[in-house]
Amino acid sequence: MIPYGKQEITSEDIESVVNVLKSDFLTQGPAVPLFEQKLCDYTGVDHAVVTNSATSALYLAYKALGLKEGDYLWTSPISFVATSNTALQCNAKIDFVDVEQDTGLLCVDSLRNKLELAKTENKLPKIVVPVHLTGQSCDMKGIYELSQEFGFKIVEDAAHAIGAKYNDKPVGSCEFSDITVFSFHPVKIITTGEGGAVLTKNKELAIKVSMLRSHGITRDADKLHFPSDGGWYYEQLDLGGNYRLTDIQAALGLSQLQRIDNFVLKRHEIANVYDRSWGEMISLNHKKYGCSSYHLYVLQMNNAEERSGLYDFLQQKDIDVNVHYIPIYKQPYYQKFVDSESKCYNAEQYYLKALTLPIFPGLKNEEQEFVIEQVKSYLEL
Ligand SMILES: *Cc1c(COP(=O)(O)O)cnc(C)c1O
Repeated sequence: MIPYGKQEITSEDIESVVNVLKSDFLTQGPAVPLFEQKLCDYTGVDHAVVTNSATSALYLAYKALGLKEGDYLWTSPISFVATSNTALQCNAKIDFVDVEQDTGLLCVDSLRNKLELAKTENKLPKIVVPVHLTGQSCDMKGIYELSQEFGFKIVEDAAHAIGAKYNDKPVGSCEFSDITVFSFHPVKIITTGEGGAVLTKNKELAIKVSMLRSHGITRDADKLHFPSDGGWYYEQLDLGGNYRLTDIQAALGLSQLQRIDNFVLKRHEIANVYDRSWGEMISLNHKKYGCSSYHLYVLQMNNAEERSGLYDFLQQKDIDVNVHYIPIYKQPYYQKFVDSESKCYNAEQYYLKALTLPIFPGLKNEEQEFVIEQVKSYLEL
């Protein structure tokens, strides 16, 4: 079986992890802050707080921005359920903004129209979450300008997009957002097994997130409400949990981060070979807003029958193609949170026609040739 995505683990990665296993700290040691520093260096952002998943990172980002009961969070329906589940966990209301047909990314024109309507109904969102689908950044400048006009916060769901660029800046620099979130799940660009990160330029937000990550507790003298009882003293100031990444995981992340540019380069080479095999005609537009990290390589078929047919055909050939994503509001669990107006035309079309082909650094040339041959034979190209 050829998977659609897979991690690459080297002997250096293993050595890095073993070194932590032999050290004094398996968690809350030096590897975590070092990984955070390296993420800052890589993206150019001021603060990084790593977490045990991107799902946790999204939840903590929303909490730190004050999302609560009665607030609205808007995002794209073409995303993983975690993007909006974590808003529901804050007891917020959620709604969905339609996507661009050629990219599957949150559409700035749809966002503007929806904001103008929401303004008249007094239902403006507190947070909008652009999702950098496949590793391509959304039109962040357009979204940022609307945030200035309508007064919402921006969290970039960049689970796919560490290693990508928007204009010439790395995704994660937070040039046009309050917070950016990365995922380090094994199918993503770099991995820590499970893991995620919250990135921000705002020091207060970073402090809030790191407190919430560890039970809402602080030992920072400047933050204490009461006089300290002594060296052991700490205070709980908020309701947090345990969302920490271990040092074992951070060691893997540190080692992987050293190879990120090679990972992205290899993904680009694979994408170029695919593109050359069928021209632009069936490939999603992966090149509209800067340099993608190519977490996913997505085809757009002519119609639902062709997509489902190609999916079944490739699965029979042991090629584990996939579909990203079922519009979130179609999930049974979501029926009580969305109304019929939530239906997004472009997202529905996108979903019916999308098919994700294998792309990952370890994909062998002959494996990719086999995938291309099979796609071409089914589509009679
Ligand atoms: C993978 C993913 C997440 C969740 O990441 P985890 O690290 O698995 O929690 C969130 N949003 C998107 C778009 C993702 O692809």
